[in-house]
Amino acid sequence: MIPKTARKLEVARLSHNFREATRVVETPVQMPAEGQVLVRNMYAGVNASDINMAAGVYPMGDTPFDIGVESSGEIVAVGAGVDHVRVGDHVMMLNVGGGYRDYALANALDVVPIPAASAEITALMVGALTASVALYEAGKMTGGETVLITAAAGGVGAFAVQFAKQAGNHVIGTCSTDAKAETLKALGCDRVVNYKREDLGAVLSAEYPDGVNLVLENVGGKLFDDAVDNLAVLGRLVVNGFISEYLSGPVDVTAPRLYQKLLWQSRMVHGFILGHFAEAIPAHLQRILIDYGAGKISAQVDPTVFKGVDSIVDAVEYMYDGRNNGKIIITY
Ligand code: NAP
Repeated sequence: MIPKTARKLEVARLSHNFREATRVVETPVQMPAEGQVLVRNMYAGVNASDINMAAGVYPMGDTPFDIGVESSGEIVAVGAGVDHVRVGDHVMMLNVGGGYRDYALANALDVVPIPAASAEITALMVGALTASVALYEAGKMTGGETVLITAAAGGVGAFAVQFAKQAGNHVIGTCSTDAKAETLKALGCDRVVNYKREDLGAVLSAEYPDGVNLVLENVGGKLFDDAVDNLAVLGRLVVNGFISEYLSGPVDVTAPRLYQKLLWQSRMVHGFILGHFAEAIPAHLQRILIDYGAGKISAQVDPTVFKGVDSIVDAVEYMYDGRNNGKIIITY
């Protein structure tokens, strides 16, 4: 039975303080129009970019606006003309504004049928897709190279470690706790650097004198600088994010211009936003779902339980405290 109203989290005013920016509201549940489906969300993924959306760094239009970009659940109603999915089917989706709410409308062609919604499968949507497309398309990942992943135990990072390892690379992963270091070893990291205990730059220059061939960089600040300084000749660094500056805003530095560090070694620094690689997404998602179904990749989900729309702000703050070991998933 579909309720008349349901709850959602919306951004009421732009702020880097996610708690102050957002509010939970009761909203009418709209039935799907032609070509749409209505999904009862069962799980939603928490993403570092939620903060950027709430702060207006990503253009989201006027407030109030809906937030939460990925979820999985059960189709409870279909609009006219929808015949490839049915009521009762489980699906997952990348749907900006559709994640942090009990019921979400989506274009029927955008939902991905899955055997059964779960926290683990929900983690694939943004986390695995971003890792795969960033490494293979932007980073031109092959095999037989040294690959560095920062924030390696997180939602994107834990998949990146697996993809880089399975492609036949030597993989270095950074993290901030012993528990995450254990996770990374279990995922196949050849060298784990807990950057709270060891200096990444010192480790790389001592242990990898020929440099690192490919970097998936998620953190920014000193880790970015250390990674650029230790790129090999023809090395590629993919700027996938810089979470250390999302709350503070840009940090000004006085240093020689970046090209001083790039030209002499033919190094490349490549910005990356998943949405700009839309044409590559279907093939990557198909391979990810096949490999996940075959047990070739595992989804690391943080064990902390976040239940319902009211828990989302706590979950985002948990991430920004650097506490998550794996992907943070909201259970509805
Ligand atoms: P996540 O990795 O699950 O969680 C964030 C992790 O970042 C924390 O657990 C923490 O782990 C690490 N971190 C390092 N310095 C931090 C700081 N100052 N504050 C908070 N955390 C810090 O998050 P995610 O959602 O998967 O995102 C990871 C990165 O991927 C982010 O930079 C995000 O913007 C990026 N991303 C990019 C795209 C794209 O299209 N470009 C798409 C999705 C995500 P440790 O410190 O223990 O390593």
